[in-house]
Amino acid sequence: MLLPRFEYRAARTVGEALTLWAEQPGARFMAGGTDLIAQMRTRRKVSRVVDIKQIPELNQIRESEDGGVAIGAAVALSALCEHPRVRERYPALVECACQVGAYALRNRATLAGNLCNASPAADTAVALLALEAKVVATNMDRSRVIPVEEFFLGPGKSALEEGELVTEIVLPARSAGFQGSYHRQSRRRGMDLASVAVLVAKGGEGAPRYRVGLVSVAPTPLRVRAAEELMEREGPSAIARAAEAARLACSPITDARASAEYRREMVGVLTARGLAALA
Ligand SMILES: Cc1cc2nc3c(=O)[nH]c(=O)nc-3n(C[C@H](O)[C@H](O)[C@H](O)COP(=O)(O)OP(=O)(O)OC[C@H]3O[C@@H](n4cnc5c(N)ncnc54)[C@H](O)[C@@H]3O)c2cc1C
Repeated sequence: MLLPRFEYRAARTVGEALTLWAEQPGARFMAGGTDLIAQMRTRRKVSRVVDIKQIPELNQIRESEDGGVAIGAAVALSALCEHPRVRERYPALVECACQVGAYALRNRATLAGNLCNASPAADTAVALLALEAKVVATNMDRSRVIPVEEFFLGPGKSALEEGELVTEIVLPARSAGFQGSYHRQSRRRGMDLASVAVLVAKGGEGAPRYRVGLVSVAPTPLRVRAAEELMEREGPSAIARAAEAARLACSPITDARASAEYRREMVGVLTARGLAALA
């Protein structure tokens, strides 16, 4: 289907992006455009696209104030996956980010776009939940920090207000070192959204901390604290009960990708498999 008419404007600064958005009702920010353009073909009416890819400060990966890492909203997923500091300190995020689409897509698509699209199937969202990331959002009047666990409100719905631009995503220093494995099922090899996916991760200093996150099995990506607590309290002997906690925590639907029953069963299977591998 052909794209409807729209105006394209490329911003060079954050201030310019906010102004370009504000002066045109129906404007939308665009990072990689891999979600936005597809949506504009079918359902989303957009009068002006404000491209943020050429804003230098949004194209950086830098050390954050607490010694963690801040990822600019225009950084492509491929650059993120290849960044030495991110690879060394946040392998659980790299594990998930490298499974988004295919290499060519990851050369355009961004972490911020994956997050802002607020899809229950967003592969990176579950790692950001596990790592307790923070989202920095700004509008004409102020900047604010949104903990990622408060970011997802429902399918396609996030805590972002109209006209707020995500400028960066911050991974805290305390989450460094979590090793994860991401177990993902889709209908076919190659490019397809996850039918169901589970991230399990282990890290922290002293007694191990666990993280369990689910994709495509609830209205939002989900972290299963009950499963994490069982593992932290009781260790590998709790794997079967942790997997059951994950199975009970999800609320999947039946759609073209999989049935609700299959998804729920696979959450149990993949959680147990991932935790056993970590243990
Ligand atoms: C063929 C194909 C395969 C795909 N496979 C996968 C997959 O395997 N896993 C997966 O999770 N996703 C997949 N996707 C979806 C998409 O590629 C990802 O969600 C990607 O990360 C989106 O990033 P983007 O930079 O392209 O976002 P964009 O399309 O630019 O933006 C997405 C949404 O976020 C808003 N937005 C973007 N940046 C900002 C910002 N800084 N501040 C505020 N709002 C913003 C836009 O207005 C838009 O509503 C696929 C898409 C395609 C076309």
